[in-house]
Amino acid sequence: MSEDTLFSKIIRREIPADIVYEDELCLAFRDIAPQAPTHILVIPKKPIPALSEAQEADKALLGHLLLAVGEIAQQQKLDTGYRVVINTGEDGGQTVFHLHMHLLGGRSLSWPPG
Ligand code: 5GP
Repeated sequence: MSEDTLFSKIIRREIPADIVYEDELCLAFRDIAPQAPTHILVIPKKPIPALSEAQEADKALLGHLLLAVGEIAQQQKLDTGYRVVINTGEDGGQTVFHLHMHLLGGRSLSWPPG
């Protein structure tokens, strides 16, 4: 059973967000504290708390999310590349427990992350 998070509230339009993409399965909006010139969060409408809690039944949804990220990257003209990050759990730095992919781009990104 997953808890209601602020991302569920964004999906329901109970709190505002700068939405850049939406389809029947997912929503994408700009991160409130951007770490790159383009920093977008892509989330499933289904409230999966974390990647570690995704199930076999979510396989198609996870593929859909990745393809949506690619489409959004094209829309955002991230032609020279970008990074997709899924922070998972405490050590992964996850702070909002509704699965989300960070799409980061618009500058050269260093590696490894901290
Ligand atoms: P995490 O740390 O869980 O991987 O990522 C959560 C992200 O959500 C952070 O990058 C944080 O800036 C973003 N965030 C937190 N609260 C809000 C909010 O109310 N609106 C938006 N657009 N982003 C948020």
